[in-house]
Amino acid sequence: MGECIFCKIVAGELSSFKVYEDDETFAFLDIRPVNPGHTLVVPKHHSVNIFDVGAEDWTAVIKVVRSLSAVIERATEADGININMNNREHAGQVVDHLHVHIIPRFKGDGFKLWHQTPYKEGEAVKVQKKIKAQLS
Ligand code: AMP
Ligand code: ZN
Repeated sequence: MGECIFCKIVAGELSSFKVYEDDETFAFLDIRPVNPGHTLVVPKHHSVNIFDVGAEDWTAVIKVVRSLSAVIERATEADGININMNNREHAGQVVDHLHVHIIPRFKGDGFKLWHQTPYKEGEAVKVQKKIKAQLS
């Protein structure tokens, strides 16, 4: 936690382009944006990702994501918004302090989302069963 760059940003020890702050959350411009206005929303208390964040911090973050999305879309005159969150290294998480990306999108901006493939025969029902088994 001592070396966490987002904790340092929240504490004001590292500079950032802050766009919003309240008691629980802090939002600032991503330094390497997909598009201008790309914003990160973080809880002020350190948590690593979706798996260890407390319900209250997560609720606070996601409420701010909702309201800031509309603000950012208007401010940047974007044509849409992507909400993205990477959890763990192999899902693309680089900074180990929970953050949600708000990404303004523009017609023809060329940013590619994930590729998709159809399920093979029987695969969907198998994974559905595995997920439901974890719920019971
Ligand atoms: P992720 O891959 O989801 O962990 O994303 C981390 C994001 O943090 C990247 O998009 C970086 O550009 C961004 N980032 C890293 N350091 C800083 C910083 N000091 N200020 C603002 N954004 C940062
Ligand atoms: Zn942190």
